[in-house]
Amino acid sequence: MLSVEEGRALAEDLDARDALGPLRDSFLFPRGPDGAPVVYLTGNSLGLQPRTARERVEEVLEEWAGRGVEGHVEGDSPWLPYHRFLTAPTARLVGAQPDEVVVMNTLTVNLHLLMVSFYRPTAGRHRILYEGSAFPSDRFAFASQVRFHGFDPAESLVPLSPRPGEDLLRPEDLLDAIAREGERLALVLIGDVNYLTGQAFDVAAITRAGHAVGATVGFDLAHGAGNLVFQLHDDGPDFAVWCSYKYLNGGPGALGGAFVHARHREARGLPRFEGWWGHDEASRFEMGPRFQGMAGAEGWQLSNPPILSMAALRASMELFDAVGMTALRRKSERLTGLMDPLVRGMPGVAVITPADPAQRGAQLSLRIHRDPPGLVQRLAAAGVVCDFRAPDIVRAAPAPFYTRFGDVVRFAEVLRSHVQGR
Ligand SMILES: *Cc1c(COP(=O)(O)O)cnc(C)c1O
Repeated sequence: MLSVEEGRALAEDLDARDALGPLRDSFLFPRGPDGAPVVYLTGNSLGLQPRTARERVEEVLEEWAGRGVEGHVEGDSPWLPYHRFLTAPTARLVGAQPDEVVVMNTLTVNLHLLMVSFYRPTAGRHRILYEGSAFPSDRFAFASQVRFHGFDPAESLVPLSPRPGEDLLRPEDLLDAIAREGERLALVLIGDVNYLTGQAFDVAAITRAGHAVGATVGFDLAHGAGNLVFQLHDDGPDFAVWCSYKYLNGGPGALGGAFVHARHREARGLPRFEGWWGHDEASRFEMGPRFQGMAGAEGWQLSNPPILSMAALRASMELFDAVGMTALRRKSERLTGLMDPLVRGMPGVAVITPADPAQRGAQLSLRIHRDPPGLVQRLAAAGVVCDFRAPDIVRAAPAPFYTRFGDVVRFAEVLRSHVQGR
């Protein structure tokens, strides 16, 4: 346990020595009640706007105004191959080969599209194993896919819950459950990081366990992308999907990302929902009758994508690529590593996120015993933005791009006055 006063002294030193500190100026901040930039701890819900996003979006608007349809092929950033500006940075972000990733659609859409290919239930093997506290949209996707294939969600869905009285899934229980389900298991799909608890999972170990029983393995990285360092190619899951408006700062409703492992590069034998944007680009505009899929993740594309939205994401991915996930994660571990001892053990607060940095990302989830919505209001009045998940969880996620160590201490200070009833 660290007192707010001790934390303040530490934070001053950490901020003074923080090489990533100046990056904060690359982002635009909402203003708090006192007119100063807020302490923004909800980058896990909607990341802040990079200053360069406006330029990138305006560039597309100008090309459209000045070139009309020719903008597809002309100019510095033609729209036909526009998604490729995002390919290499996205591959580096998640530890993939360039043809294993594509930016397209939004998260739940991509989850459905990849489940079409990678959830192929049979009479004997039809179960999906996932965290019981998975995000609602994921659970809706799982249940509707099960019904779509003519199976019964009550039979086919295997939500894993923590042991009675515990908040987190024990990693060994997850692996044991995969082994226990064995050949009944068609798909293992885990949210990494879990949106509610902030718990991170071992992608390599889960992938090995799933593949060992003959299941396919996918990950929802909505709370992982831009938060943790991934090695998706080496760790070997069949697929992964994520959104880009959380840690990735891509803007509201930003285009999502998808990873399909190189072993499925040719998609041989995989059913797939097809659209013209997944068709071989050399012959796309010949408008022929037969679908010829592009190799790799790009073959899952359906449509001509929204370039304006992609432009905002491009601005953010340029920042991620310039700094690199390793440096961001290092600072993130220090930020959360400062927040943790300030709040864990505070009377009236239970931190449910793992204390081990290897089992969490940026976010800490705090169970607040007295009036949690009141706490969020009090924080807002003090210019600190956090969010609340009913019935009693407050989530706080310092973002290494723009959170200062002093901001973390400010959060703890307001939290302390709330729990002390002052
Ligand atoms: C944020 C989030 C979503 C939201 O899905 P969209 O399709 O982008 O609206 C889904 N799943 C998880 C795990 C999330 O964290």
